Amino acid sequence: MRTSLARRRFLGSALALTTLPCTRLFAAEGGVYPDVEAVTGDGRQVLLRGADVRDFATRLRGELLLPTSAHYDEARRLWNGSIERHPALIARCSGPADVAEAVKFAAANRLLLSVRGGGHSFSGLSVAEKGLMIDLSQMNSVRVDRERRVATVEGGALLGALDHETLPLGLATTAGTVSHTGVGGLTLGGGFGRLGRRFGLACDNVRSFDVVTADGKLTVANGQRNKDLYWGMRGGGGNFGVATAFEFQLHPVDPIVLGGKLVWAWPDAPDVLRFFFEFATTAPDELNIDLVLLHLPNGQRLLSMDCCYSGPREQGDRVLAPLRQFRKPISDEVVPQPYTKLQASGDDANAHGGKNYIKAGFVQKSSLGLRDVMIATIDEATMPVVHAVVLPQGGGAYARVKTNATAFAQRAADHNVFVLTRWTDPSQGAAVAEWSRNAWKRIEPHTHGFYVNEYNDDASRVSTTYGPNYDRLVELKTKVDPDNLFRLNANIAPRKA
Ligand SMILES: Cc1cc2nc3c(=O)[nH]c(=O)nc-3n(C[C@H](O)[C@H](O)[C@H](O)COP(=O)(O)OP(=O)(O)OC[C@H]3O[C@@H](n4cnc5c(N)ncnc54)[C@H](O)[C@@H]3O)c2cc1C
Repeated sequence: MRTSLARRRFLGSALALTTLPCTRLFAAEGGVYPDVEAVTGDGRQVLLRGADVRDFATRLRGELLLPTSAHYDEARRLWNGSIERHPALIARCSGPADVAEAVKFAAANRLLLSVRGGGHSFSGLSVAEKGLMIDLSQMNSVRVDRERRVATVEGGALLGALDHETLPLGLATTAGTVSHTGVGGLTLGGGFGRLGRRFGLACDNVRSFDVVTADGKLTVANGQRNKDLYWGMRGGGGNFGVATAFEFQLHPVDPIVLGGKLVWAWPDAPDVLRFFFEFATTAPDELNIDLVLLHLPNGQRLLSMDCCYSGPREQGDRVLAPLRQFRKPISDEVVPQPYTKLQASGDDANAHGGKNYIKAGFVQKSSLGLRDVMIATIDEATMPVVHAVVLPQGGGAYARVKTNATAFAQRAADHNVFVLTRWTDPSQGAAVAEWSRNAWKRIEPHTHGFYVNEYNDDASRVSTTYGPNYDRLVELKTKVDPDNLFRLNANIAPRKA
């Protein structure tokens, strides 16, 4: 029985054999798909019939992976090594038509559904335990139209690919600070980066989305078509559908920037942090600084600033002079260098597989009270792991967009702040989480809302985060995803019918 079915599939697919990877035909042992246990979005167990799973597999150009498939383990793993989840099925989509099939299959079976772009969700929202994972990692192309200054980027591309294609043409748009992060998740939730104070959030630069909505239809959302969806997808995260492609506005930039790290000794940290709070608010848009208070596994403590000045070359040193003069850094690695090199400078320190725990929030106005709890957090860290309190800069072009112009509402924040712990030993996980939650309890009162791309068990803070935009987002969600198919995100729940 198994053999004859396998043979029929083999004969019927003779032509396809020339183009499809063998692993797809043999995704299920002998070509026969077993019944698959899965869960629905509301947590019920369901049994998917093998015949239906096979039918779904044959409608995909990419692979459908089961737990027994060759690439399953590699596909389910995310950047954060502390996430251990096992989807019932992984659809490795080859293009928008595959995505539409996967969304329809999930909707028809009411499956718990996740969408994986670059796989950098801190809390693992892109891998659905016992659900269906839509894996966009094969959809990673970037095409640049130099004349129109537009980049068309597929939904699973990484930031490094975007920079790699645009910078040689003297063009760029805002991208995050670690090059192996995904364009998809970063852009849909906002997107801060080294050019952000000049050009706005990554999502502010999206001219158009190709999107598969919960009804399985491929549509376009931009300033002319589906304007509400266009509004919601700029900051509303993955709530409204699967972005299969983004069209980004590019800007002329000098491919050489003044960038790198300034590091201060820990005793200087309180004064430098106070100085930075004032400096950050008046710094030119061309300067971006991510400030980090760091505790290393060997107990060393430091304050560092990751700097990028992308304005006229001859003015960079003058702009940075006040920081260098206020207290002498113990290390100064800020030099002219290719922007793409700077963009990859944090890749190794944030390599895949390390375990990470985050808690985050937006700081509307920095204060000495905030400074003191940030310093105390690192002062009191004792575990032999990396503890960081990170303070990226807001302002500039982020703040010049009106609160209601896009879904992203936290325009006025001086900073985003987050506590991040990174470790390797699995036995430390529980202690790390407890330490981080306690540290966060002291910092959270200085915040209002949080960055949805740093979501970690923050459902109760979603409405505060979207503030005056929340009701409109709920309306949109109710219209385009009434069954909350796209729920593994900073979820905006639809109104109940
Ligand atoms: C090392 C590191 C560095 C970071 N640096 C920055 C930074 O500089 N600036 C910044 O703003 N953020 C930064 N972040 C946060 C980052 O924006 C989020 O982790 C973001 O979710 C990553 O997107 P992804 O596609 O890689 O993640 P994934 O895990 O693939 O996806 C996360 C979520 O995004 C949604 N999603 C992803 N792609 C799509 C798509 N195509 N269509 C629909 N939904 C989709 C899904 O809801 C999914 O659950 C960083 C994160 C890490 C781990």
